[in-house]
Amino acid sequence: MSFTIALAGNPNCGKTTLFNALTGASQRVGNWPGVTIDKKVGKIKGTDSELVDLPGIYSLSPYSPEEIVSRNYIVNDNPDGIINIVDATNLERNLFLTLQIIDMGKPVVIALNMMDEVEKQGDKIDAEKLSARLGVPVIPISAKEKRNIDKLVSAITDAAEKKTEPKYVRYNDSIEAAVDAAEKALEGKIPGSPRFYAFKLVEGDDAVMQAVPGARESISEAINNLEKEFDDTADSVITDSRYETITDIVSSAYERAPRDERGTLSDRVDRIVTNRILGLPIFILIIGFVYFVAMYDGDLGTSPGAWATGWLNDFISETVIPAAQEWCESAGVSEALTGLLCDGILSGVGAVIGFLPQMIVLFICLVILEEVGYMARVAFVMDRIFRYFNLSGKSFIPLIVSTGCGVPGVMATRTIESESDRRITAMTCTFMPCGAKLPVISAIAGALAGSVWVAVFAYVMGIVLVIISGIIIKKFHAVSGAPAPFIMELPPYHMPGFVTCAKTVFDRSWAFVKKAGTIILLAMILVWFLKSFSWSFTLLSEEEMGDSILASIGGVLSYLFMPLGWGDSWELPAASITGLIAKEDLIGTLELLIAAPFDMDVSEALDLLGTKMAGAAGHAMILSFFTFNMFCAPCFAAVGAIHRELGTWKATGFAFLYQCLLAYFVAVIVFVVSAAVMGAMSDVPWYSIMFAIIDAVILVYFLVVKDPFKPFRKNTEVAE
Ligand code: GDP
Ligand code: MG
Repeated sequence: MSFTIALAGNPNCGKTTLFNALTGASQRVGNWPGVTIDKKVGKIKGTDSELVDLPGIYSLSPYSPEEIVSRNYIVNDNPDGIINIVDATNLERNLFLTLQIIDMGKPVVIALNMMDEVEKQGDKIDAEKLSARLGVPVIPISAKEKRNIDKLVSAITDAAEKKTEPKYVRYNDSIEAAVDAAEKALEGKIPGSPRFYAFKLVEGDDAVMQAVPGARESISEAINNLEKEFDDTADSVITDSRYETITDIVSSAYERAPRDERGTLSDRVDRIVTNRILGLPIFILIIGFVYFVAMYDGDLGTSPGAWATGWLNDFISETVIPAAQEWCESAGVSEALTGLLCDGILSGVGAVIGFLPQMIVLFICLVILEEVGYMARVAFVMDRIFRYFNLSGKSFIPLIVSTGCGVPGVMATRTIESESDRRITAMTCTFMPCGAKLPVISAIAGALAGSVWVAVFAYVMGIVLVIISGIIIKKFHAVSGAPAPFIMELPPYHMPGFVTCAKTVFDRSWAFVKKAGTIILLAMILVWFLKSFSWSFTLLSEEEMGDSILASIGGVLSYLFMPLGWGDSWELPAASITGLIAKEDLIGTLELLIAAPFDMDVSEALDLLGTKMAGAAGHAMILSFFTFNMFCAPCFAAVGAIHRELGTWKATGFAFLYQCLLAYFVAVIVFVVSAAVMGAMSDVPWYSIMFAIIDAVILVYFLVVKDPFKPFRKNTEVAE
């Protein structure tokens, strides 16, 4: 028989691991209709049944798109059965969803996951007793060790075949009376489980009240009784009694081994890394160390990442490109085509690909930090800091995702309930250094003499700008309000799985290579064309590049960037524009424009250009170039994602302008301040100093003044 089975569970309970164990390689990824949440479907191994992966959720209330998707799927698509995966090390929290799933009235089997962890802690769970109390089969499994997977499959197949309805968990009499009344009021008026919707009606769920107008009024007597008896609102009464029931069930079935009174090793480590004072410095140290391993090249020696990248760069410039040049000559390829192939494609794309070894080292370190569970701690530490600035700690999860790529980072803002926090986070999470910015960090660090602090600067500044923006943008929208509470349990640390890590590192590295071979390749062809031809389309020699189309465009833009200390360089504005296509293009473009013609690498060329344009303030200029490009608008792909989240081009345009303007302001200040620190003020032009002071005043004004728009409003207008 073939069935359709849904897989539901809390985030982080091992759903993906179980899905993979159940379906193996037969996976299709699509989209849930109307939202950009992945929908994964696969065939359960050894059966004809299909498994549908529902999004990770904590409840079935319509608070988040994930919850709506899951609820609609169970009601409208009518699966033959539901596997509810539950994290056995966090039973209390996980069973809250379970109780609601059971009320859906479909055949349910509970997969009690992470049993290996439970046993490692010396605890015991009586699955029989759990099953008796919940009224559905409970199969203890370990998705990671693939334990009892076959038992789970036969249990759900069996339940689906017999269409076994769960024996519902019963609550206190007054609740049951209200639910009975609600069931009668809804009878025949709503599809899906009567009991589930009856609970929702008593709770005052908007979706049900809209679907059946008047239903809640018709049971107001039962609800009044309930609210009077417990002296609380109906939905709190139900939530409380669900948790009470859960506590009771868990305490009867869960036998806890005596704990070391200092807590587990995880607890003890957490006390240090999430410490109020030490948390942030530890995070900075760890990120610094990661970059040290990947990029450091200086007095202390050469890190593995820097060594491998140096080797690959040399190989490309000293072996691959000369070989291609020779081949072109011997094959009689035209001058223009040789230029396109060697100076355009191979140099530009090669300069980006050269960073691959470093990226792999970085990916390995970051994946291990994620897998071990450290990133969850960082979110916890940041919550405290963000809360201080009236932003939710939930905002930090999109920021962490954005350190990989801004596109899923922007999408991850959907987990934020508060609409204003969600929009602000979507507008600002691309301030974080994403994967595409890593080669830029690396090249700049090279130009500034192998400094790991360039990376730390990028991360810390990214977070600071998010916080600053949170404060400023809230004033624009005149929105305020306390951030939504952020409840996150810290999962115990665990050894990262080798296969999972290897696969993630491979996926990310491959995505990097693929991007270099497609979008960056195209951009480099375009850049080569624009730098090699004049407006009259004559092919220019390298010395004549100043007459090229690109030079004249960059030349016009250069006036805009003079306060940032870029002098009259047309190359830097041109590179910044190509950075909007993909941030790696910054490196490829600089390679074509300033490095390859002088037979240097990008770092050396930047160093030289800095001295030429800004004299002793050269390094300050490089830092301002870096600052602007790190924090101005992200690549077009991420802008597209921001548009999807914000909904209108007006809001997207606001975000784009805001990001560029803030990056500009900050870059000017960074230029002047860092030049002052380096003792190079004599080479800083007067207008930069003037701009820096004005910028700082404007920023402080927006940060400090409560209603920054008041002086600009007409007197007759009444403030809301
Ligand atoms: P999802 O967010 O629900 O999809 O969860 P994942 O499948 O991504 O798993 C979250 C983490 O729990 C991963 O690090 C897994 O390796 C780990 N994990 C999953 N199942 C088990 C298990 O049975 N035992 C243990 N010890 N870890 C598990
Ligand atoms: Mg998952």
